[in-house]
Amino acid sequence: MLYDTIVGIATLQGMSALNILRVSGADAIPIVSKIFKGKDLLSVPSHTVHYGHIIQKNVPIDEVMVSVFREPKSFTGENVVEISTHGGSLIPNKIVELLIKNGCRAAEPGEFSQRAFQNGRIDLSQAESIMDMISAKTEAQLLLANRGLRGEVRDLVGSLQNDLLSLISKIEVNIDYPEYDDAIKMTDEIVIPELKSVLDRVHSILQKSTTGRVVREGIKTVIVGKPNVGKSSLLNSLLKEDKAIVTNISGTTRDLVEGEWNLGGVLLRLVDTAGIRNTDDVIEKIGIGKTKKALSEADLVLLVLDQSQQITEEDRQLLELTKDKVRILVGNKIDLGKNVDLQTEKMVNISAKNATGLDQLEAEIKRLFIDESLFHEDEILLANARHIGRLEVCKTALSDALSACMVHFPIDIVEIDIRKAWETLGEITGVSGSENLIHSLFSKFCLGK
Ligand code: GDP
Repeated sequence: MLYDTIVGIATLQGMSALNILRVSGADAIPIVSKIFKGKDLLSVPSHTVHYGHIIQKNVPIDEVMVSVFREPKSFTGENVVEISTHGGSLIPNKIVELLIKNGCRAAEPGEFSQRAFQNGRIDLSQAESIMDMISAKTEAQLLLANRGLRGEVRDLVGSLQNDLLSLISKIEVNIDYPEYDDAIKMTDEIVIPELKSVLDRVHSILQKSTTGRVVREGIKTVIVGKPNVGKSSLLNSLLKEDKAIVTNISGTTRDLVEGEWNLGGVLLRLVDTAGIRNTDDVIEKIGIGKTKKALSEADLVLLVLDQSQQITEEDRQLLELTKDKVRILVGNKIDLGKNVDLQTEKMVNISAKNATGLDQLEAEIKRLFIDESLFHEDEILLANARHIGRLEVCKTALSDALSACMVHFPIDIVEIDIRKAWETLGEITGVSGSENLIHSLFSKFCLGK
């Protein structure tokens, strides 16, 4: 076995009923058996659970259940022992200490998953899906992470790689044993159509992945509007808790207030802002700077207007400032009248104070961002920003290859771009991943995972 034996606490410590310790490595079973009183773990079959005690110098420390998994059919692919101990932090820490005295090393964050990857039990996209499952906050996030864990991202990437590999081999064969005397004919008849077909597929996956990204990362939404228009009230009624301070003195929302709102399975990240206006007040000026920055990073802007009064110069400035963003005009205080009607753009009228009209607002956001039919498609949506980024690089390489073909560049030059596309895809699953990439990825995992 290549690696030493590691131990980690897989559960959150505190006043819980139980904790799970994981031990993985060639010596996992002999080390645990040194401190376990019960059945002889060295002779028990794989995938069995045993009752007993953890002992230190013959004194029992805890009553535990021990699960034994023999290589290669374990999470890491190595011998694994999982010890269910009682909760709190003293017991598990004491047992970890004992295991270390007996030959284990404390695991680093993500080290169990890294071993699973290195031993070929999972690919990188599956390892990342495990983390996505753990951090999922909505049903939709969980659904996508589960599909990733089942290997759907791996399969998708694998099939694109296969198409490219078949193309590369056709090119290689033609370079070595030219069937076509005419290299231009070969490019036109074989390479261009196949390249176009892969490029179309990559393009379509990337288009759909917008929904996937929205599901995984949420829609970064910024609420803007002149002071007193009801921004904080809107944020509060969306979040159903008092996060932003609501007052009727102009300019009180000076800082950005953030919150998350689960919109039918999609996370909306809300940022409430100070009103943008000309002011000499230093604190308020800082707030305005932050608003402009928040606006530049927003996926969606909710521009709140006041239905109880005519549109003002400040409203016009905000309309101008946000005109190139994906935005929804929200007509607040509809309970007090309907004075604003922008003929050119649809408005969603609400009363933040009475919590009316929020359903229409929700429907409008969904219409803009979420194509729900995509969830039921056979092909998985890519949701992970790293995966999408790699696929974008792959697309650029394929487009370069296609342009080179069109102007009849030598085929071995074209092949360089196709190989680059293939390698970039491999970085999603770790097939062609560099050591650095792999190390930095797993270091973001939690301890014991
Ligand atoms: P902000 O400065 O834009 O954050 O505005 P606030 O949320 O602090 O609201 C300013 C005032 O308008 C408060 O007195 C709120 O109670 C009131 N307000 C907010 N929404 C509504 C609404 O829908 N109807 C009415 N009548 N008053 C509202």
